Amino acid sequence: MSPTNETPNSAPRNTRARTGYAGSSLTVPKSVPVAVSVRPHLAGPKEERATKGHVAASAMPEEGPLIDRYGRVHSDLRISVTDRCNLRCVYCMSEEGMTFLPRAELLTFEEMARIARVAHDLGVTSIRLTGGEPLVRKGLPELVSQLSAIGFDDLSLTTNGMQLAAVAQTLVKAGLTRVNISCDSLRAERFASIRRRGHLSTVLEAMSIAESVGLTPLKINVVLLRDTNDDEILDFAAFARETGRIVRFIEFMPLDAQGEWDRDRLVPGHEIYERINAAWPLEAVGEGGPAPAERFRFLDGRGEIGLISSVTQPFCGTCNRLRLTADGAIRNCLFSDDEDTVRDVVRGGGSDADIARLFRQAVWAKFPGHAINEPEFLRPVRSMSMIGG
Ligand code: SAM
Ligand code: SF4
Repeated sequence: MSPTNETPNSAPRNTRARTGYAGSSLTVPKSVPVAVSVRPHLAGPKEERATKGHVAASAMPEEGPLIDRYGRVHSDLRISVTDRCNLRCVYCMSEEGMTFLPRAELLTFEEMARIARVAHDLGVTSIRLTGGEPLVRKGLPELVSQLSAIGFDDLSLTTNGMQLAAVAQTLVKAGLTRVNISCDSLRAERFASIRRRGHLSTVLEAMSIAESVGLTPLKINVVLLRDTNDDEILDFAAFARETGRIVRFIEFMPLDAQGEWDRDRLVPGHEIYERINAAWPLEAVGEGGPAPAERFRFLDGRGEIGLISSVTQPFCGTCNRLRLTADGAIRNCLFSDDEDTVRDVVRGGGSDADIARLFRQAVWAKFPGHAINEPEFLRPVRSMSMIGG
């Protein structure tokens, strides 16, 4: 069955590349391209699922790639291995009082690998392990090894780097190909105040070790917050130039556990572009594609940066991502509370075909855009660390 001819209303990435930051006559749009369709953000996953049944059932393909109603093919699966973390970053978790899933509710590694294998058979080529902090889950190399045996093109990890040094080599031997390390400040005191626990020196050492064991290209994730670390834009650009690490600036999203997200605290991607481009001219790399980061290299050939402008320049139009939460829910969008609980299927004796059907349903029910910029937007019930960033 073919999808409908509807197209998501968020600006496609290749259009963004043409009309956005690249080139000398900068025409950064002031208004934001938004998704037309506002999701009925209902009280929670179960209620929402009950009302969308008719949507998911109609014309859903029973074979072929994981395609949604807007023609987007899904090939990237983020697996959250835990909702726990050894840090408490201000934009992600509360300092005190976080509650976590009981152990019995987490998928086992064997369950994750089985679900991933079904996803692979449905055309998923890329896996990223995340959390919470994935390295606080004991025995992670074992999962990497099971996933590696399935044969994905790309098997990567996003980590805060606190525990990476000790296990980096083992992860490589198990089949990990790349790693993204989060680091929001290059100043030790500020790093500690944003991440609330841990030391900058530990993370810098993790970066060096990751490179020494071949976990490259190394990407560094930076969340900028207004009046907190936005004075480090050029420091991070210089860091990218000096080290060859790809620094990716991520816009603050309404996914913090405290629910204190405020648009005024977000530093828009176009501002970051302008600041860096004025100091060291940039040129766009490639013509877009499903990866969320808009990539730019320095014109003098010294390094690369990325902008992940999820709020001000949504990339929903080319989104190819699915998520599996640590407790076994398939989510078709960070911002959708719509979840399909694959753990119940697995533990209830379901077949691979049952799991596959759940993936297809989740993809088919995906909305065209996240609608953050619409007045009706409600933040998701689960925050970033509970979903898997
Ligand atoms: N603990 C790991 C880490 O920090 O890299 C992996 C999980 S973390 C949820 C994944 C990414 O999401 C990190 O780069 C983090 O900085 C980012 N993140 C967390 N909360 C965010 C928010 N509210 N807005 C934007 N990015 C956020
Ligand atoms: Fe932990 Fe990552 Fe969230 Fe920071 S961003 S609190 S390291 S899960």
